[in-house]
Amino acid sequence: PETLFTAIPMAPRDPILGITEAFHADTNPNKINLGVGVYYDDNGKVPLLKCVQEAEKRITAQGSPHTYLPIDGLPLYDNAVQKLVFGEDNIVLKEKRAATVQAIGGTGALKIGADFLKRFSPDSQVWISNPSWENHRALFEYAGFKVNTYPYYDPASHGVDFNGMIGTLKTLPARSVVILHACCHNPTGADLSDAQWDEVIEVVRDRKLIPFLDMAYQGFSEGIESDGQIVRRFSQRYSPVLVSNSFSKSFSLYGERVGAFSIVAGNADEASRTLSQLKRIIRTNYSNPPIYGAKIVATVLSTPELHQMWENELTGMRVRIHEMRHKLADELTARKYGEDFSFITRQNGMFSYSGLSAEQVERLKNEFSVYIVSTGRICVAALNSHNLNYVVDAIAKIL
Ligand code: PLP
Repeated sequence: PETLFTAIPMAPRDPILGITEAFHADTNPNKINLGVGVYYDDNGKVPLLKCVQEAEKRITAQGSPHTYLPIDGLPLYDNAVQKLVFGEDNIVLKEKRAATVQAIGGTGALKIGADFLKRFSPDSQVWISNPSWENHRALFEYAGFKVNTYPYYDPASHGVDFNGMIGTLKTLPARSVVILHACCHNPTGADLSDAQWDEVIEVVRDRKLIPFLDMAYQGFSEGIESDGQIVRRFSQRYSPVLVSNSFSKSFSLYGERVGAFSIVAGNADEASRTLSQLKRIIRTNYSNPPIYGAKIVATVLSTPELHQMWENELTGMRVRIHEMRHKLADELTARKYGEDFSFITRQNGMFSYSGLSAEQVERLKNEFSVYIVSTGRICVAALNSHNLNYVVDAIAKIL
């Protein structure tokens, strides 16, 4: 007889977690996983930041009980996040036009935003870059939206197909939701220039679109301040602006699930009505967010000496990735005389769209136990001084 389960098909495996499973099953001692979206230090370890350790000590010393947080999260955290994301002196904060809620990582922030949009702009469609972070499409589809793509990556230049992108944005109907990567585009590493961002803001204004800025890598391109510029500029020139941000990478707090969702309204009254609705969405989903990661981030951000320590450690991560980019490009150029790999050094963030084909990725796995996403996305942050030569040799042999 038919049951509930009869019509349930097996869902497709997550492509990236699939790589990790295959990697763990591989017995080659030289195996390397460049398919991940995680920063590793030069010894191949996920770092425990000193600022985090110090904050943890202070939190433990306080011996606080594990109470519930307010629906919208730890107030000290929401406050500190607003200052970080929008800039302390942003007029938007002075005018109380931004509403910020703690979220379960960057993913949870996107989902709060998606649920909010579905409720209050149900006929909108969503536009993501081609390609984009692989969860964007599914997340917005599961929230009930039709998801389309706008042109983004230009394989010939390893950069942005800006004419294609802006041309498509200029055709979108009002209230189309446009997902934009605020910095360090995942998966391509190709970001817009300042002048191109200005054009995007102009088109968003002209056509009354709904921009949703996803910022999962603040600090990994040029620095906290500089990487946050796009959110600041957007928020000062337009509303609504939706922002999801994540501390998974920048605090190396992946499993604690710390992020936030913010929305910039036209005035304080709109912002407070919006906040009340965001709380409904959270209350009916998971009631209120977890406390530990938010306490860590709030402690670091609100304590000047820990804040400085964090910025230094984040700079260390960023500089190490830059070094790996340069070494990778130099070594590949040396082994493949005449080919230009300098594009690797122009990309931002943790990833490089290498241009490797799916077949080449397959060969790297089968012949060298080097694991890369089939699109050719390499996690540069998983390269280190011990494994770089092995990876370069392998890539040079299959190119
Ligand atoms: N958005 C982008 C573009 C990402 O790359 C990621 C993480 O890989 C996220 C959102 C999700 O971040 P989190 O792990 O904090 O949920």
